[in-house]
Amino acid sequence: MSFCTAINCMDGRVQLPVIEFLKKRFNVNYVDVISEPGPNRILAEQNNLNVVESIFDRLRISVRQHGSAGIAVVGHHDCAGNPASQQEQYRHTLAAMDCIRRQYSNIPIIGLWVSENWEVREIS
Ligand SMILES: [Zn+2]
Repeated sequence: MSFCTAINCMDGRVQLPVIEFLKKRFNVNYVDVISEPGPNRILAEQNNLNVVESIFDRLRISVRQHGSAGIAVVGHHDCAGNPASQQEQYRHTLAAMDCIRRQYSNIPIIGLWVSENWEVREIS
């Protein structure tokens, strides 16, 4: 068994596209999902430390118990949890990636954008 980790939005429209993308991207059998509304903004802004801590608690389980092969932070079109523009969401996602990299420097960390057609692409 092999795993990677998605820090994804709770939005039902992005679940399957992100899981399918990440299974191929990291060549794994399973994708552990940590879902919050607009998690890229939550990690970028660090305003709600309880939620940030909860995300890292779950991330730790995926990394330590499942040996996660990679971590993805996801932003998407028409996000109710993070209604910022695409450009601003990109900045949130990059900041969120930095935040995770400070704790997990030896695991690949990528950013994803899910478009209005629910197509997934990697950003960096
Ligand atoms: Zn969303």
